[in-house]
Amino acid sequence: MPFCDNCGQQIDENQKFCPNCGARNELAFKAQGSVAPPPPGHKSEVPPPPPPKKLIDLEIDQEDVDRGVEKARRGLGAAFSFAKKGLSKGAEIAGKGIDAAKETIDERRAAQAAAQPPATQPPAEGQRVCPSCGEPVTGSGKFCNHCGQKLE
Ligand SMILES: [Zn+2]
Ligand SMILES: [Zn+2]
Repeated sequence: MPFCDNCGQQIDENQKFCPNCGARNELAFKAQGSVAPPPPGHKSEVPPPPPPKKLIDLEIDQEDVDRGVEKARRGLGAAFSFAKKGLSKGAEIAGKGIDAAKETIDERRAAQAAAQPPATQPPAEGQRVCPSCGEPVTGSGKFCNHCGQKLE
């Protein structure tokens, strides 16, 4: 069991910081290797920048535009008449589907409410958590033994 170089407090060898004075415990850092782990939530991968927008240079003939519009009108008309035929039946099926989905959701909610305990368990009494790194703090030290944060 090593002792703190700074204050002489007995510390655990895997505690990176002295819980009494916050001094670094070099043994714990050496045990983990020379490279310090990245802080929690840190992402090393940076998303690639979006590709540059390609400028499309199109030469449009007015005659082609007119022909295209005419084709689109014809296509749209056919689609519209087809949709009207199927619409009432489609709406009926859709309505039934929505009702069935609602019932399923209500049933699931009821089942979940019955399965879950009414309240979440509070954390164990006396267990302190570091406000800086979120790790549970062992013992009654004044400093976090994970990151060296001074504790209230
Ligand atoms: Zn110390
Ligand atoms: Zn901490």
